[in-house]
Amino acid sequence: MASSPKDLHFVLFPLMQQGHMIPMIDIARILAHRNATVTIITTPVNATRFKPAIDRAIQAKLKIQVIELQLALAEVGLPEGCENFDMIPSVDLFVNMYAAMDKLEKPSEEVLRQLTPAPSCIISDNQFPWTTDLAHRFGIPRLVFHGPGCFTYLCLHIVVNTNVLSEIRSDLDYFVLPGIPDRIELTKAQAGGWGKIREMEGMEDFFERMSMAEEGADGVVVNSFEELEPNYVKRLAEAKGKKVWCIGPVSLHSRSFLDMAERGKKAGIDGHDCLKWLDTKDPRSVIFVCLGSMSSLSNEQVLELGLGLELSSIPFIWCIRSTTDETDIWLSGYEERVKDRGLIVRGWAPQVLILSHEAVGGFVSHCGWNSTLEGVAAGVPMVTYPQFADQFLNERLVVDVLKTGVSIGMEVPVAIGEKDKFGALVKKENIKTAVESVMNDGGEGKARRERAREFGEMATKAMAEGGSSYVNTTLMMQDVIEELAKNTKPIQDVF
Ligand code: UDP
Repeated sequence: MASSPKDLHFVLFPLMQQGHMIPMIDIARILAHRNATVTIITTPVNATRFKPAIDRAIQAKLKIQVIELQLALAEVGLPEGCENFDMIPSVDLFVNMYAAMDKLEKPSEEVLRQLTPAPSCIISDNQFPWTTDLAHRFGIPRLVFHGPGCFTYLCLHIVVNTNVLSEIRSDLDYFVLPGIPDRIELTKAQAGGWGKIREMEGMEDFFERMSMAEEGADGVVVNSFEELEPNYVKRLAEAKGKKVWCIGPVSLHSRSFLDMAERGKKAGIDGHDCLKWLDTKDPRSVIFVCLGSMSSLSNEQVLELGLGLELSSIPFIWCIRSTTDETDIWLSGYEERVKDRGLIVRGWAPQVLILSHEAVGGFVSHCGWNSTLEGVAAGVPMVTYPQFADQFLNERLVVDVLKTGVSIGMEVPVAIGEKDKFGALVKKENIKTAVESVMNDGGEGKARRERAREFGEMATKAMAEGGSSYVNTTLMMQDVIEELAKNTKPIQDVF
């Protein structure tokens, strides 16, 4: 019988996508740090991505292990090694990935049967709906991890569970989202989130299963902190009819150089070189530009973004995830022109490390939830440049609720995963204006920066011992102990 955190064994199922996997690995380390045993179940390619972080945790004597399961890639028609959403060659194959993920249920059950100590709780991404039944078969709770914060989660809940969208005719007209404490205006296209994927064959059933499984889950774990969105934490718990534990920003759990420099993937620049470059700049003078792990810009937009940064007089670090022959040629001349104040990172940036440096004073972000929260945690104002999925909702939180951001003016979402459909161009003049406005230290810019700084301080306090997120982690663990105590059936009798 579990009576303290050290008796608990959490089994984590992270979705194979950077924006879901990175915070789950942080959650694993937070739980292990609180003396629980943690098993992460994932696939070999994904395990390799976070191996350095897990190895460091094991060296620090945390009770963490990773168990690798093979996806049935050939069976569902996916290429060998295609184990992460950022590797899927075409959006039409997303549904094949979900089919492969479904096939992990049986092997996962085998793994759980053999775990010692026996599992006591599953924390799984909402995109593994079968984990609710799996947990019930073992007589243990399943907690859902969904990705976004409470504001966005609640907005999505309203969009999915009411007919608010069906009453709106045009995709592009703005309407006020009902049922939330703030006045939020957005378009149907911005609220829709999943675009084409939702309409694909088989996905309707998947979404239905996901929502049923969420209903059957025992609680919700959110990477956020109560002070950031207090009204929404409460409303979300009411809407879902379950406990919501905000336990973040999880990126603040470890501030060691390596943990910040090696998050998610090997970076395209040495972390020390990055810090050395930043050391030469004035406090809060640099803007960091990074658009996450999934979005891709057209060649024309890459050039326009670069020209917008060049037009402003602000020093910058710009992470370009993927380049083409055309952008490479253009970049070689560009880099030379901006070399005194611009640093270009190709591929993966050590984002959290960069944001932690005092020279960084602003962040141009695509508003993926992790990046949004990492910006909040760093205490910097943001230029919001959403692309798709929940990013437009996160933008509304930053711009309208927290009032710590300036929109770049992106209005029409890009088709998620459709690499050749980029939507309307954001012009260099708009980019320059938004960047300068966020970096401006006078008037509204000053007030925005002050608010951002205060949220950053609150985030740090929330994660410190005794802070709201620390306490919520304790409460979540206690809840698991209580749930287990209610279930008196020995596991072997469950089968
Ligand atoms: N990230 C990073 N370097 C990059 C791009 C992304 O470290 O060059 C990290 C970022 O810090 C965040 C995650 O990857 O933790 C991206 O998650 P987010 O929810 O912001 O966006 P997504 O990639 O899912 O769209």
